[in-house]
Amino acid sequence: MRTIGLIGGMSWESSAEYYRLINQQVRDRLGPLRSAQTLIYSVDFGPVEQAQHAGRWDDAAAILVDAARRLEAGGADCVVLCTNTMHKVAAQIEAAVAIPFLHIAEPAGQAAREIGATKVGLLGTAFTMEQDFLKQRLRNMGLEVLVPEAAERQWVHRIIYDELCVGVIATASRKLYQAVIESLAARGAQAIILGCTEIGLLIKPEHSTLPLLDTTELHARAAVAFALADGEAAPR
Ligand code: GLU
Repeated sequence: MRTIGLIGGMSWESSAEYYRLINQQVRDRLGPLRSAQTLIYSVDFGPVEQAQHAGRWDDAAAILVDAARRLEAGGADCVVLCTNTMHKVAAQIEAAVAIPFLHIAEPAGQAAREIGATKVGLLGTAFTMEQDFLKQRLRNMGLEVLVPEAAERQWVHRIIYDELCVGVIATASRKLYQAVIESLAARGAQAIILGCTEIGLLIKPEHSTLPLLDTTELHARAAVAFALADGEAAPR
């Protein structure tokens, strides 16, 4: 089995989900006492979040490049960056290590295609919804990407940082996300990409009229497929 290297801490609420999902999937696939070989380098989110909101992306990238190098030096066979937002600096991280970087947009885009969706709604931080680093990757996979209106984006963003990243799951916020999903559906979205790794803690399939593509779950699944060398002739 290959060793999965996780860069976590952004926030640790979602890193814990990655750890749980990856181990559950390995257990389901290999047997009850099997678990994933993982290395987790969990950063202090404070300086990363401050750099994001100040637009100091190179400072945030430096923290994550250092984390990726530590994972590689520790024996990880891949890098899994457990946040959508910080994929803004994916290229810098990828360039800093020799091991593969498993990009979060790939399994999300693939899952959309597998269910036949061509127009998807994207929920995430303002950075993810408003900038192109993730959306362009999805567009390159043939998807049209819709994001919420400006006022809705502000709410979606604030709930992520003020509640979900600090472990607060509130019914009122769930209702707000549900209303945002409904307006994306009215604009033609056929599925919703939960493009922030904490949203799955708030919105479950039963809370949505549209199919949900949860990046945390799909990214974790991609990591397990890599670890178990799915699709390769001679798994280690
Ligand atoms: N985990 C979140 C994401 O997937 C937000 C936290 C962050 O800014 O990294 O985008």
